Amino acid sequence: MSERLHERLHYGAHLIDEADIAAVVEALRSERITQGPRVAELEARLARCTGAAHASVVNSGTAALHLAYAALGLGPGDEIITSPITFVATANAARMLGADVRFADVCPDSGNIDPESVARLVGPRTRGIVPVHFAGLPAELRELRRIADRHGLWIVEDAAHALGAAYEQEPVGSGRYSQATTFSFHPVKHITTGEGGAVCTNDARLKQAVDRLREHGLVRAPAPGSGGHFGYQLDRLGYNYRLCDVMCALGISQLDKLPRWLERRRALAALYRAELAALGTPWLTPTASGSEAQGGGARLHAQHLFSVLIDFERAGVSRAQLMTALVEQGIVPMVHYIPVCDQPYYVELYGRAGCERARAFYERELSLPLHARMNDEDVRRVVSALDSALRGGEPTGSRVKP
Ligand SMILES: *Cc1c(COP(=O)(O)O)cnc(C)c1O
Repeated sequence: MSERLHERLHYGAHLIDEADIAAVVEALRSERITQGPRVAELEARLARCTGAAHASVVNSGTAALHLAYAALGLGPGDEIITSPITFVATANAARMLGADVRFADVCPDSGNIDPESVARLVGPRTRGIVPVHFAGLPAELRELRRIADRHGLWIVEDAAHALGAAYEQEPVGSGRYSQATTFSFHPVKHITTGEGGAVCTNDARLKQAVDRLREHGLVRAPAPGSGGHFGYQLDRLGYNYRLCDVMCALGISQLDKLPRWLERRRALAALYRAELAALGTPWLTPTASGSEAQGGGARLHAQHLFSVLIDFERAGVSRAQLMTALVEQGIVPMVHYIPVCDQPYYVELYGRAGCERARAFYERELSLPLHARMNDEDVRRVVSALDSALRGGEPTGSRVKP
């Protein structure tokens, strides 16, 4: 336990157990190490856990976004509207297809895309809306669907943070409000395949288009004179975005643990909320939990991140100073995200976007350690370190039990 006390606590981390290792070894020993039976098995398992009719696994969350957009026909001259409080991939995947990106502003308490801002940006070239469920809290999907329906737009949910989240009792991925939902299995996310991702949809034609684009754009078809022994046909340019059987074995084994890990993450987040509230520092507030009465739909947080907002001016300490103090105590927080609209690439393309609330969110955001390896003691250690760093003094000690 004294050893654990000195372990570095990162804002996120994967968890690989012996069952995962055994599953991977078994896959390595099998006849097919890519595109074997485990691909379809992981897809079936993902469909079951999200409530989607279909899932397609791919080799990254970025590939999932790229193929979802491509399968929906996004191309040059088209536009998507998305949030600037996301990883660059959400926007980049549209650029990869020659489409343009408009950045909507966010809700100040959650960092999720603001439907009113989306409505103002819809134009004749808009094809789709891409909400990002920041930190694991679903965006206001019902309102976004209303806007999409008014203008004949599709919705793709970037749910890289939100495996296991729910919106009005429907699991994220069920496609109740969207055409497709994408996930990432990067090690920092809820479950991992090293690199990996998935597209979930209820539309069989969309699933088929994603599967073809994942494999170069090929369709299996007997070649003339093949006698049915060989042949494929290329109708549309695609990619090699396949996830191999070995990594699918890891994904299946990881999914077994998802319910338990979600429970752990939610319990740790609840403890953070209680401990932080006890500090009595009104200038430090966790981002929206989903239980606030906001008139929106009931939302179940997946707690990919534990994100807090700090008014550093009132706290009397800069974010850099606070992060340095935490890192010195073995606690490694992170900032999510530098607004994508402010990345030099996008500023060069589109000039300065009007996303002032996104900038304000970024200026205050800090993601504290939260992952399935952590226990209650770890949360108390983080809060104690935060408390002492904010007071500019020594750790109080009272919060960490001997
Ligand atoms: C991780 C992430 C992605 C990209 O996923 P990769 O698997 O790393 O390609 C996309 N969007 C968001 C919001 C993410 O957090």
